[in-house]
Amino acid sequence: MKRRDFIKTTTIAAGAVMPAYNFGKSIMANDRLSVALIGVGLRGQNHLEELLLLGDIDIPAIADPDERMIGDALKLFEKYKRSAPQVYSKGNYDYKNLLSRKDLDAVMICTPWEWHIPQALDAVKARIIVGLEVCGAINLQECWDIVEASEKYKTPVMPLENVCYRRDVLAVLNMARKGMFGELIHARGGYEHDLRGVLFNDGITPYNSGVEFGEKGFSEAKWRTNHYVNRNAELYPTHGLGPIANYLDINRGNRLVSLSSMSSKSLGLNKYIREHKNGGPDHPNAKINFKQGDVVTTQLMCANGETILLTHDTSLQRPYNLGFRLQGTEGLWEDFGWGNADQGWVYFEKLMEHSHKWDSSEKWIKEHDHPLWQRWEKEAEGAGHGGMDFFVVRAFIESIKARKEFPLDVYDLATWYSITPLSEKSIAGGGKAVRIPDFTKGKWKSRKPVFGFGDNY
Ligand code: NAD
Repeated sequence: MKRRDFIKTTTIAAGAVMPAYNFGKSIMANDRLSVALIGVGLRGQNHLEELLLLGDIDIPAIADPDERMIGDALKLFEKYKRSAPQVYSKGNYDYKNLLSRKDLDAVMICTPWEWHIPQALDAVKARIIVGLEVCGAINLQECWDIVEASEKYKTPVMPLENVCYRRDVLAVLNMARKGMFGELIHARGGYEHDLRGVLFNDGITPYNSGVEFGEKGFSEAKWRTNHYVNRNAELYPTHGLGPIANYLDINRGNRLVSLSSMSSKSLGLNKYIREHKNGGPDHPNAKINFKQGDVVTTQLMCANGETILLTHDTSLQRPYNLGFRLQGTEGLWEDFGWGNADQGWVYFEKLMEHSHKWDSSEKWIKEHDHPLWQRWEKEAEGAGHGGMDFFVVRAFIESIKARKEFPLDVYDLATWYSITPLSEKSIAGGGKAVRIPDFTKGKWKSRKPVFGFGDNY
């Protein structure tokens, strides 16, 4: 009940009003929001469930060409005793018919990466507010296109980067803003997650289920694996970069100026197929040369002199870890694991009397728990990825309802997405430094940080 009711109990957030943007078509006259989903695969279903838990969100339409995913999504409507949505499942472009509806305030897009920007552009042109799941761009032009369309059609776009809301990540933001790290110098993060079971999921058993992908794959194996065949890049920058961008005020007083990426050789996926019981050295997929290197590291330079190291490491054996590190003149944090308070280390030179010894992060993370988590812990219980999915959906919905600037916006999205094509170019050039465009066109100098202030969203 608490999660169902939360939206009604909120107050207006501290973020700046964005009069330049159109915030929805029906919300002026009607306190209910009308939100559609494009892509109701595994991630779309997570978001759908979050939305269905809210009493004041209507979900009149969903689009997805996959009948199995549509069927699973419709079961969620039944589970929550909500009226069935109109389904747009006639192929890859039926989402355009969904976007021609006149009753939508917003759409959440949770599709394969190659569809993100084309679909977001169509939504923005229809003046429907966009929440876009995360990835990297297919090419740099996409990043400019979404910024320019969002500005032209005065329709906001939010990247649904949930890791920004991870409890330890937010506590560290809180500590950084209190000055406990001193002046920030360096940060690290990445996507270090053994995805072999995802990249070769055949949909029969949920994990480590096979060696097939593409048409024979299920969920992400249908499309994500093809990126590993054809590209070599920092393929998934936002989980690592999003939190760091908030620490370093990227696009709000600071910006990313250049990067250099290097890629290791590629062995992990081939080895997995050769050794899998359903594969073997003679399996046709064992002959594929995956272009994506097993470990891709990207160094980034910031306008204010900080450096960042991102790591993409998803093809080898390894326990999950986004590998965060934040280092300043006075303190240092490093995490390992899933983001629990005790899964990290800190060192604060003065507070710890120059001991030169790590302290478990547990007590520090708990003591400096972010106000968002203090206020919404109960409501976030049970939500995906340890609760952080609750916060990202809440931020999207509450910003629209309050007609406030999104805490993560289209400039953040373009900047983070651009890392993929730019890293691809850098790797192809032997690690050469590549300039990162200023998608704010100079506004970064005067824009003020808005993410994570206060306890609302
Ligand atoms: P998925 O394959 O399970 O779902 C994608 C869905 O999009 C599928 O059902 C597919 O049929 C549908 N689709 C494909 N083409 C479409 C089109 N033209 N129109 C409408 N629907 C279309 O994959 P997923 O795991 O749900 O991933 C979706 C997105 O979410 C990706 O960007 C992924 O990186 C991201 N993701 C984010 C998180 C997170 O923690 N933030 C977790 C998982 C996935």
